[in-house]
Amino acid sequence: LKEEERIRFDGLSPSELKELRLKAENFTFQAEVNRMMKLIINSLYRNKDIFLRELISNASDALDKIRLLSLTDPSSLDATSDLSIRIKVDKDNHILHLFDTGIGMTKNDLVKNLGTIAKSGTAEFLSKMNENAQHQKELNDMIGQFGVGFYSAFLVADKVIVTSKHNEDEQHIWESDAASFSIVSDPRGPTLQRGTQVTLQLKEEAHDYADVNTLKNLVKKYSQFINFPIYIWTSKT
Ligand code: ADP
Ligand code: MG
Repeated sequence: LKEEERIRFDGLSPSELKELRLKAENFTFQAEVNRMMKLIINSLYRNKDIFLRELISNASDALDKIRLLSLTDPSSLDATSDLSIRIKVDKDNHILHLFDTGIGMTKNDLVKNLGTIAKSGTAEFLSKMNENAQHQKELNDMIGQFGVGFYSAFLVADKVIVTSKHNEDEQHIWESDAASFSIVSDPRGPTLQRGTQVTLQLKEEAHDYADVNTLKNLVKKYSQFINFPIYIWTSKT
């Protein structure tokens, strides 16, 4: 088993891994997503830090959703009543994991939420960004207001893997190198009780994000307004 694959699909045998590859369904990103990703990469390369703010804010939104749901349906917390965000670093392998015990995503959610942009005003935002591309400050303000979202993960990662468990579906693995994405049902079963794990295979120039102290400082900076506990831990390999 290649080292990279051993890390990503911990616990799978070579034959299981092969089967996984065969079973995976391939998808292309909506055109707006491709435009958004290009824009993010071209305009935010000096501002890579923001990926963490965006991923933490998504985790927090997902936790808000399950908490809200649990008010009318207490059984929605049966899998786990823990509501938290956990960050795990695998420094040797330049991998960063973000876990949340939020609402999670079904397979359909993964296709829709991580393959298209539903947000209103996206087209307008994209064209404004093109016009203003030379003014870094204005750009930052606009991005701050709009929120560039999930795809900012590709500022620091050349591969992003999202493993998600929603109460109403099996656990699925979404995987992308920014060009296209694939989804497959997770043969390991539900390794997550509920929620989402975002795994970033860090680019060479972004290896520093697998450093616990770097992360601690960034989390401090970005988590002031997050209403859920955020834990950071290091892996023992
Ligand atoms: P936004 O947060 O503004 O909606 P994003 O690009 O950040 O846009 O995220 C796109 C969508 O992907 C979210 O609206 C949400 O439905 C889904 N999503 C992203 N991260 C998570 C997560 N950790 N848990 C559940 N859903 C998520
Ligand atoms: Mg978001």
